Amino acid sequence: MFPLDVIREAEKDLAMEFHYYDEIAYVNQVKVLNAFKNHRVRENNFHPASGYGYGDYARDNLEAIYTEVFGGEDALVRSQIVSGTHAIASCLLALLRPGDELISITGAPYDTLGKVIGKNKPIRGTIIEKGIDYKEVPLNDEGHPDIEAIRRAVSDKTTMVLIQRSKGYSLRPSLGINTIKTLIDTVKSINPSTIVMVDNCYGEFAEDTEPPQVGADITAGSLIKNPGGGLAPSGGYIIGRQNLVEEISYYLTAPGLGKDLGASLLNSRWLYQGLFMAPHTVMQAIKGACLIAYIFEKYGYDVFPRWNERRVDIVQAIKLGSPDEVLKLCQIIQSNSPIDSDVQLEYALLPGYTDQVVMAAGTFVQGSSIELSCDAPLREPYCAYLQGGLTYEHVRFVASKIIEWLTEGK
Ligand SMILES: *Cc1c(COP(=O)(O)O)cnc(C)c1O
Repeated sequence: MFPLDVIREAEKDLAMEFHYYDEIAYVNQVKVLNAFKNHRVRENNFHPASGYGYGDYARDNLEAIYTEVFGGEDALVRSQIVSGTHAIASCLLALLRPGDELISITGAPYDTLGKVIGKNKPIRGTIIEKGIDYKEVPLNDEGHPDIEAIRRAVSDKTTMVLIQRSKGYSLRPSLGINTIKTLIDTVKSINPSTIVMVDNCYGEFAEDTEPPQVGADITAGSLIKNPGGGLAPSGGYIIGRQNLVEEISYYLTAPGLGKDLGASLLNSRWLYQGLFMAPHTVMQAIKGACLIAYIFEKYGYDVFPRWNERRVDIVQAIKLGSPDEVLKLCQIIQSNSPIDSDVQLEYALLPGYTDQVVMAAGTFVQGSSIELSCDAPLREPYCAYLQGGLTYEHVRFVASKIIEWLTEGK
């Protein structure tokens, strides 16, 4: 069979899945549209502000829209937040004080947060070096949050718990919003004043509900992943309870200044239009991930999630078993990207990571992973983590190249 025939067969099986995700995209599209209508967005609101950024209407109105869409009380949506790690780290560093207790209740957090916490080496400024007591509740043997262990770990001393929605560089299932709700309810039933924080990276708009709508106190993520819709040139967001957002804003700028400063600098159309596009773009990526999973399964590989499992984020893990195969898959993606298609990839150390990593990201926005991208740490069991795709058609073409590799090239 020609690669495209394999894909057409796959798409017959995937039709029901695709239909399900189209309905989610629709619900989220209407939600975003209504927020735009409620906040009376006008084209001439997009002009960049300069200097201190007092009264920066483009920024303030965008933050109000994010607040409505995600269901919080207030938000920070800023290009000055340099990445998802910066957004999450700002929440932790702003809200925790020496003597406080932070518990990651979904096992080890994302690689770059290990450094923020200072797990291996508490360099100055990390959570542990600041005298904050840090614990982790491991996942159970099936990779699910261990509710009984969480009950035992959380106490009246627990200041904050961290929940990570997406799997990160692990094979555990990503958390659905219902599971997140159960975790929040569990923690709050033991200590209602514990701040529940959700690392929402890669989960935005994958389901019809967001963490603040099920009781998360503070939620953070990156604008060069899902909610930027592939258009946001950089930035991060933080959404949650008003008093918490205010405290974090004092950390990001300065006490007393808070949210009132920080000029938008760039034309904000990218951020507005990106959010408007995000529900659709996320589903392009999710459908692409379904197809990729289907194909690897067909050729005998273990994939997480399986092709027909309900997805709650955009990440597709593929267990390839060797560093060379991981590199090869990344190279296929890189070589079939709109940008930097002639680049040869290799494993290397990147700031924030402990293991060497390889990252295929032939993207319009550097490192953007709502665009088709694939990355992997150099460690067992040698999995590749593929995500994104601005158009399903692009992923479909790359899938045909993957089929060629799996059938002939090996
Ligand atoms: C991407 C990601 C982050 C943050 O990564 P940045 O590259 O700093 O934006 C944090 N947590 C998870 C689960 C992620 O996927």
